[in-house]
Amino acid sequence: MTAERVAIVGAGLTGSLLACFLARRGLTVALYERRPDPRVGQPERGRSINLAISERGLDALRRIDLVDQVMADALPMKGRMIHPVEGPLDFQQYSASGARAINSISRGTLNNALLDAATQAPGVEVHFEHRLLELDSQGGRMVFETPAGKVEEHADVVLGADGAGSAVRGALLAEGILNEEVDFLDYGYKELSIPAVGGEFALDPGALHIWPRGTSMMIALPNPDRSFTCTLFWPAGSFDALSNEGLIERHFAKEYPDLLPLAPGLVDDYLHNPVGVLGTVHASPWQAHGRTALIGDAAHAIVPFYGQGANCAFEDVVELDRCLDDTAGSWARALPLFEHRRRENTEAIAEMALANFVEMRDKVASPVFRLGKRIEHALERALPGRYVSRYELVSFSTTPYAEVRQRVHRQHQFLAAAVLLGAGVVGAAARIARSERRVRDTGGRR
Ligand code: FAD
Repeated sequence: MTAERVAIVGAGLTGSLLACFLARRGLTVALYERRPDPRVGQPERGRSINLAISERGLDALRRIDLVDQVMADALPMKGRMIHPVEGPLDFQQYSASGARAINSISRGTLNNALLDAATQAPGVEVHFEHRLLELDSQGGRMVFETPAGKVEEHADVVLGADGAGSAVRGALLAEGILNEEVDFLDYGYKELSIPAVGGEFALDPGALHIWPRGTSMMIALPNPDRSFTCTLFWPAGSFDALSNEGLIERHFAKEYPDLLPLAPGLVDDYLHNPVGVLGTVHASPWQAHGRTALIGDAAHAIVPFYGQGANCAFEDVVELDRCLDDTAGSWARALPLFEHRRRENTEAIAEMALANFVEMRDKVASPVFRLGKRIEHALERALPGRYVSRYELVSFSTTPYAEVRQRVHRQHQFLAAAVLLGAGVVGAAARIARSERRVRDTGGRR
C-alpha cells in the first residue's frame, strides 16, 4: 500500500522529526498536536527544560541537515562533575581521550527547530490545539478535541508519537489489540534553577553536575543563558515533607551545601514546581493492521538516567525510514519490521537506564568507582576499538543498544577471565617460589 495521507499524533521531538523524514519521502503528512504552537507562547512547565543529546540524536539531525543549527545552541559537557557533601569537586571525563562530549540542549529550542523544519517541508500540515480523543486503528478514523469543538479526520496511516501517556496507545489498549505495563519508579523529580552570576555561569558549563546522595540525587545541566537547570530526584513521597521555607533551607544546607548560595530562587522553585513522575513503558505490539503504530516514548518511554530517551526516539525515526526503504515504501511490511528491529534495542536501553540510576545515585562518588573508570579508560587507550566502555558505546556511537549490552557483557567476562588468569599465574608463581625456597632451605632434602 502506498500511503496517500499519514497522520502523526504529537508534535513533540519525535513527531516533528518524523514529519521531516516522511516529507523527504514525498508523503502527505498531517501532524496533530494538543498544545498551542510552542513557538508563539510560553513553554510548558513540567518536562525537563534541557536535555543531553548525543551521537544517536545527532545522527538523526544530520540526516535532515539540522545538526549545525541545533548544535549552535548546544553546550558540550565532556564529563561529570561530582559534588560531595564536603570536600573538593571531582571531574570524571566521559571518554578515554577526554575529548568527547554530550550536549546540553534546550528542549524548547530543539522542538521549535524541528517544528520549523516540519512546517517548511513540502506536504506537511501542522494542526495545533488538536487533542486526539478517539481512534479507530483499522479504519484510520480519528476524533480530535479542538477550540472549535470535535473534529473528525481520516488517514491511511496513523503514527502515535504522543509521548509516555499516549492516547494512540490508549486506543489500541481499549480495542484489545495491545498489552501494556507501565513500571513507575518510586522516585519523582523536581526542577530547580541556578541563575547566572554577573552574567557568568555559576558552575563549570563544560560538565554535567551531579550531587549523588544515596537515596536522592541532583543533576544540573547548563543553558545558553548561562543559568543551570537542576533536577532533583527523590523518592516521590519525600518531596511533601519539605513544606515550608525553613525546612527546605535546612535540608539543602545539610545535603547540598554548595548549591544553596547559588540558587536564590530555590524555595520558590521548590514550592511551586511540580513533581514529575518517572517510569518505563512496556507495550506490545507497537503496530496494528500494518497502518497504525507507536513510536518514541509512546512505544517505550524509559527513565532519564542515561540521557537516552530522545536519542533513542530519534533513532526510532531513522530506523522506520530505513524500514520503508527496505520494503519499497510498504507500510504494511515496514511497521512490523520496525517493531522487530527496534524492540530488543529499546528493551536494552530501558534496562541500562535503570542500572545507570544506581550508578549515578550511589556509586559515582566512591573511590572504587573512580578507580574502575580510570582502569576502563586505560584499557580503552591500550586496546583501541577492542575494549570500549558502555558509556562510550551508548553515548558516542550508533551501535545498536542490544549489541552494546552483549559486547559489554563479553568484555566483562574477558576481564574477569584475565583477572582470574592473572591471579592464577601469580598464585602458581608464588607456589613455585615457595616450594623452591623450601627445597633451598632443606638443602634439597624433601
Ligand atoms: P514527548 O516529548 O512526550 O512528546 C509528545 C507530544 O505529543 C507532546 O508535544 C504532547 O503535547 C503531544 N500529545 C500528547 N497527547 C496528545 C494527544 N492526545 N493528542 C495530540 N497530541 C498529544 N532524553 C534524552 O535523550 N536526553 C536527556 O538528557 C533526557 N533528559 C530527560 C529528563 C527528564 C526529567 C525527562 C522526564 C525525560 C528526559 N529525556 C531525555 C527523555 C525525553 O524527554 C523523551 O524521550 C522525549 O521527549 C520523547 O519525545 P516524544 O516526542 O516521543 O514524546
